Amino acid sequence: VTTESVDRRSTPLLAEFVAAVTGAPDEASATRRAVDWATEALEAEVGVILDGDRALASAGFPRGEVPIAVLAEALAGEREQVDVAGVGACRLVWTRLEMESPIDLVVARAGEDPFSREEIALLRAAARSLTLTLRLLRALAAERSTRDHLQKRQGLLERLSSIQREITRRVPLADVLTLITSSARDLLDVEMATLRMIDPTMPDVMLLAAHDGLPADVATSITRTEVGQGVSGRAVSSDGLVIAERDEVSLGRPSLADQDVAWAMAAPVHEGLRVTGSILVATTRVDHVFGLAEQEVLTAFAEHASLALTDAKRVEHIQRLAFHDELTGLVNRSLFMERLDQALLRARRRRSNLAVLFLDLDRFKTINDSLGHTAGDQLLVTVGQRLRQCLRDEDTAARLGGDEFAILAHCDRAGAIEVAQRVLTAMEPAFTLDGREVFAAASIGIATDRGGRANAERMLRDADTAMYRAKFAAGNGYVIFEPSMHAAALARIDLEADLRGAALREEMRLDYQPIVELSDGTVAGFEALVRWHHRGRGVVSPLDFIPLAEETGQIAELGRWILQTACEQCRRWQQRGPQHRGLAMSVNVSPRQLQDARFVNDVAAALHSSGLDPHDLVLEITEGAVMVDIESATRKLSALRGLGVSLAIDDFGTGHSSLGLLRRLPVDIIKVDKIFVDTIATDPVAAALLETVVQMGVILSLDVVVEGIETADQAAIIARFTGVLGQGYHLGRPMSAAAGDTLLSGSDDAPESLAV
Ligand code: C2E
Ligand code: MG
Ligand code: MG
Repeated sequence: VTTESVDRRSTPLLAEFVAAVTGAPDEASATRRAVDWATEALEAEVGVILDGDRALASAGFPRGEVPIAVLAEALAGEREQVDVAGVGACRLVWTRLEMESPIDLVVARAGEDPFSREEIALLRAAARSLTLTLRLLRALAAERSTRDHLQKRQGLLERLSSIQREITRRVPLADVLTLITSSARDLLDVEMATLRMIDPTMPDVMLLAAHDGLPADVATSITRTEVGQGVSGRAVSSDGLVIAERDEVSLGRPSLADQDVAWAMAAPVHEGLRVTGSILVATTRVDHVFGLAEQEVLTAFAEHASLALTDAKRVEHIQRLAFHDELTGLVNRSLFMERLDQALLRARRRRSNLAVLFLDLDRFKTINDSLGHTAGDQLLVTVGQRLRQCLRDEDTAARLGGDEFAILAHCDRAGAIEVAQRVLTAMEPAFTLDGREVFAAASIGIATDRGGRANAERMLRDADTAMYRAKFAAGNGYVIFEPSMHAAALARIDLEADLRGAALREEMRLDYQPIVELSDGTVAGFEALVRWHHRGRGVVSPLDFIPLAEETGQIAELGRWILQTACEQCRRWQQRGPQHRGLAMSVNVSPRQLQDARFVNDVAAALHSSGLDPHDLVLEITEGAVMVDIESATRKLSALRGLGVSLAIDDFGTGHSSLGLLRRLPVDIIKVDKIFVDTIATDPVAAALLETVVQMGVILSLDVVVEGIETADQAAIIARFTGVLGQGYHLGRPMSAAAGDTLLSGSDDAPESLAV
């Protein structure tokens, strides 16, 4: 605090001020104390702290009414005299606080006497002190809110892990539901919480599954409620968070009105993708407003509880079965776990080795969806047979559920790798399902143990975690567990919950990468590449969340949004001028999307509502998406082509596709993968290979786009192949729509180009 020009008399006054203001617990009381002090110290009648046209605190105004307009006008005109209603003509002095927005400390004294220089200096010194105090208080408030946030999140995680623990301990489902409800109540610090689940036999009715803090008679009166009614019911029907105030809550529900609920908030609970119920929290405290933080906590909790619930139901289901899987005749999960327990005990005595392999079929959902459950079952049976052939007598193969299998092998790491390789080889031959040839690879995770140190649950979990790695790597392979993967797996569960509704929260954005005519640099079109701007993690790559969205089925909704947004953007660019009229937009389509019966409709709808000419839309499909069932994929692709859109095979050359296949598929474009480009500048063989691939496309009268062009040398080599389009960092990185505008504006005035 600077006191340079404050005279001796004033110093104790200022000290008193500093003590009063810095001791204030919050901003409101600091400003109140400051204005009281300033008015008194300057022997003034009235004082006020103005933040623009708002009074933060005032003193001495009759009935507390601050003539803000009058004062603001005087300040703006630098007039030192003003008429204050109820006080009369006053002398005015003010000083400005250096905050983000201008805040003025204003004091007015009745009469004509001007303020002395000492008085003005005193006021300025006080203002400086107040500025520092306010800044400190704001910083503290910000820190407190992040600390609260962290604490809440920590609490949330602890609750969830205890729920998860209860589930693995196989406590009855009803107890899990109660635990979820009481956890919600504690987490949000409210008096009441309920969990309502849709009646499996009557989809319009919700049953009270668990409650906490409600008197028994009230609970009885609301055991059955309707979907769409009340806060809980609306959370279900809208599949979103609902907040309601007293009047709405009590409406038509006298029993709850008796509870004097001031605020209630409910979030939907899911099982897989279906909404199956909602969690409601309610408080009688009028001041307990459900702010953003509370909304986030409840949403996050409901999402996680959903995952736990799905899990719990699965566990219950498995318990109901005996020890063998009816379909494949393999051992089931519980017997597998028991055998693993036993094996670990024995390994402890004999200091021997054990390995668990966790196996998950790649694209099982796709097969099941496209060929039907009978074919899916047939596939599982055959996989079971092939697995058995890979094992020695003392080893165990189990079906854990769905398309998940596990193997218990009495061997070390090297032996486990051998088993994994044997399994992968056994999966290679086509499966004949319903007279059709289908390919189904598997992803395998391996966890090993020496001397029985592990515990069974953890070993299986670790193998499962490693399996996910294998799956995300590309599938059809194995990965050995490492401890660092565990944390990553937890993060993945979080990500899965966050993904829901990300597009609606406007966290999804599209970048656009130019596709360029190599001969003259004209932009022929763009490829839309989705980006997730996650609140906490920054930008998440599509490689990390598209597989997740596929797995959870969220891809359908996300895909529709991507299509719509990309088509609209393309149309907007085309409308810049005639030379952009033929600009094309490429949109990536994931395998699961292609399977969706509504996909053709979705494409037609996006074209229709954006007004984009179908010929200007390219759908990029990977080989994997068509390989599963070539016949039905061909039918789907033909239907899409019927709309007039072009089809491209993406990442061409990285999968199993052959020339023969390419001839049969109704596609127009191949996008040659980056791996063909990487070494062409230094390796003539690689360059020749790329040229061959390009030639092949030309012979089949397909358009060719070469991807991943990173250097000028590469571009120059590829430019020699006629009629080839290029894409890559050297030609243009993926960019925002605004950057795309700028790029195109370079050729806005150019003569109409002949670009594709
Ligand atoms: P993709 O379809 O093969 O897209 C090309 C990827 O290569 C993009 O990565 C792009 O940023 C990157 N790339 C382009 N030029 C170069 C280059 O010169 N060097 C290198 N190293 N990379 C280059 P991105 O955006 O990370 O996307 C990865 C994949 O995620 C895409 O591969 C595509 O399969 C998928 N994807 C992206 N957006 C979507 C989408 O909207 N829907 C679906 N279903 N999948 C998407
Ligand atoms: Mg692509
Ligand atoms: Mg590609």
